Amino acid sequence: MCRIALILLIFYGSVQSQDLDYASWVIKSLTDRSMHGRGYVDNGHKIAADFISDQFKMIGLQSFSINYQQEFPLSVNTFPKKMGVKIDNQKLIPGVDFLINPSSPGIKGQFVATIVSIDSLLINNYKWIKRIKSLSSVLIVDKTGFGLLSKEDKQIINDLIDALLFNEDLNIPAIVLLTDDKLTWSISQQVAFRPLISIRKSVIETHDLTQIKLTIENDFREDIISQNVIGMIPGKRADSIVMITAHYDHLGKLGKKTFFPGANDNASGVAMMLTLAKHFSFDETPEFNTLFVAFGAEEAGLIGSQYYVGRPIYPLKKIKFLVNLDLVGTGDDGAMVVNGAIFNKEFNQLVSLNTQMKLLPEIKSRGGACNSDHCPFQREDVPCFFIYTLGGIQAYHDVYDVHETLPLTGFVELQQLIRAFLANL
Ligand SMILES: [Zn+2]
Repeated sequence: MCRIALILLIFYGSVQSQDLDYASWVIKSLTDRSMHGRGYVDNGHKIAADFISDQFKMIGLQSFSINYQQEFPLSVNTFPKKMGVKIDNQKLIPGVDFLINPSSPGIKGQFVATIVSIDSLLINNYKWIKRIKSLSSVLIVDKTGFGLLSKEDKQIINDLIDALLFNEDLNIPAIVLLTDDKLTWSISQQVAFRPLISIRKSVIETHDLTQIKLTIENDFREDIISQNVIGMIPGKRADSIVMITAHYDHLGKLGKKTFFPGANDNASGVAMMLTLAKHFSFDETPEFNTLFVAFGAEEAGLIGSQYYVGRPIYPLKKIKFLVNLDLVGTGDDGAMVVNGAIFNKEFNQLVSLNTQMKLLPEIKSRGGACNSDHCPFQREDVPCFFIYTLGGIQAYHDVYDVHETLPLTGFVELQQLIRAFLANL
């Protein structure tokens, strides 16, 4: 008996470590330089989608097209080429020393700069607005201490900067923000009238800020065809379907060299989805027909999931439950369930399974939030959870979200919990 228990334990342990090895390999592959940050420069999104199609094929998922893919169009402002910012002859490093607002147009030249602090902007608001109208130099806004401002003052500063970006009548060539906050990037589907560059203040503290040299190229692309990757595993029952979803796209590149790996966001979710697919394909037939979808263009505004909802493989009414996984590479502090406070019965089930099986330290719940790919489904009354893990790293939408530092602390436990949850639906 002891021996059998030991063998079972070893076997069980090895299944878990196989899952973790496979997940680590998926995350490493998706965050590799060859995937170009899974964005719209150098076809990164397509290379990543093809990688997932290959995995679906290897796992044996059924396809609804020749290559598991569902194409859709989108427009994105991209930065495939020059990304140069020089102050006082010091060349700044994209992603590390500075970021540009994703809606920035290109710019080239050496510019005189006018510097203003946020305090001065707030105190002499009218005077500055008048002055800005006649300004033809780059406006540098020193945002040091922004985090300490009241909510109202933050709003005033942010509204002013937004207005400056989209005002056609001004002569300011560019706006620079000096910040002591973390640099966080995103994707834009529009182009502003002038570039906005955020520079970490500590990088240029000792430098002369009267001049700035900018060489930035953008390429606003209205012709991109991206794709969702969709595969199915037949279950014991075909009267309803279960969906497991995770977006595979990320922010892509900023200039020729800098790319955003997106290990936690969301190579981790794709890895979780693929390990679940492997489990249901090789080890245990799922209860219901189970659809696995790796969505594209989430970062550009939930474009892939929105497209799917308009052209679903199965009627949306047949979805028994959808579990969306986005940012599941940590877990030291457990997991958060968006919609846990809405779908109480399912959330209580999840918590009790977690307690019984002694998996994650805590399962927290929040209300609805349109912050990932479950949202377009929820709008169509599809019951769904969006699960992300808590604790661990701070990297998010930056060049530091790399596989080497992704802890995967609760990965195996969350995978087991989702399996148990789906088996009990
Ligand atoms: Zn994400």
